[in-house]
Amino acid sequence: MSEQTIALVTGANKGIGYEIAAGLGALGWRIGVGARDPQRRDAAVEKLRAAGADAFGVPLDVTEDASVEQAAQLIADTVGGLDVLVNNAAVPGSWPQTASTMAPATVREVMETNVIGALRVTNAMLPMLRASRSPRIVNMSSSVGSLTLHTMPGVDMGQIPVAYLASKTFLNALTIQYAKEFRLEKILINSGCPGLTATDLNGFSGDRTPGEGAAIAIRLATLPDDGPSGGFFDDAGTVPW
Ligand code: NAP
Repeated sequence: MSEQTIALVTGANKGIGYEIAAGLGALGWRIGVGARDPQRRDAAVEKLRAAGADAFGVPLDVTEDASVEQAAQLIADTVGGLDVLVNNAAVPGSWPQTASTMAPATVREVMETNVIGALRVTNAMLPMLRASRSPRIVNMSSSVGSLTLHTMPGVDMGQIPVAYLASKTFLNALTIQYAKEFRLEKILINSGCPGLTATDLNGFSGDRTPGEGAAIAIRLATLPDDGPSGGFFDDAGTVPW
C-alpha cells in the first residue's frame, strides 16, 4: 500500500461530490473520481488536476454490478488499494413523491442508487478498505432521513420527496449495521449531512455552497483512528437518527 492516502468519491463529477474530491485532493490524497458519464468524469478530473489534485477517473455507475466490480478492479490494478470511500452519488427521484401518490418504480429507482448503490460499492471496496491502515467510509445522508426529526413535535421538515427521504433513512440504518459489523475492525463508518446545498439535486435551491456542503464529508473522511463510528453528523454536531 502506498504512503499516499487513496480515496474514491462516488458521483464526484459535480455538486458536493466534486467539492469532496477537491477538498481531499487538497490534502495531497490520490482521488478516484467516480462518475458514470465519460465526458463529465474527464472534465472533473481535468479541473481537479488543474487545481493541483492527484485525481484519476473511475468509470462508475453505482446501479450496475459489473460497473462497480470493474471500478474495484481498476483501483486495485492502477493505484493498488483504497483507504477512504465516500458514498456520495444519489438521485432525488421523479415526481410525484408523496406516500399516497408515488409510483413503486420511483421508490425502486431511488433505492437502487441511494441505498443499494452505496451497499454495492461498499461491499465491492471492502477487501481493499480492510487492507488499509486507517479505513474510513462516509455515507452522504441527509437530516431529511431522520425519523426523530420527522416525528418531533414542533418540527416542520416541509415537503420532502418521500422516496428520497426514506432512502436516507435506509442508508442511515446501513451505516449503523456496518458499524456494528466492523466493531472489531479498524474501519470507521459514519453518515454525514451536508445541509441544504445549492446543487442540481434540488434545483439549486439550497443556501449553502457545494464547498460548504462537502465539509462534513471531509471531516468524517479524515477522522483519527479513535474517532466515532456508526454516527450521524453535520457541521453543527450530531444529527438524531
Ligand atoms: P448532485 O449535484 O445532483 O450530484 C449527484 C451526483 O451523483 C452526480 O455526480 C451524479 O452523476 C451522481 N450519480 C447519480 N446517479 C449515479 C449513478 N447511478 N452512478 C454514479 N453516479 C451517480 O447532488 P448533490 O446535492 O451534490 O448531492 C450529493 C450528496 O449529498 C447526495 O448523496 C445527496 O443526497 C446528499 N445531500 C444533498 C443535499 C443538498 O441540499 N444538495 C442535502 C442533503 C444531502 P450525474 O452527473 O451522472 O448525474
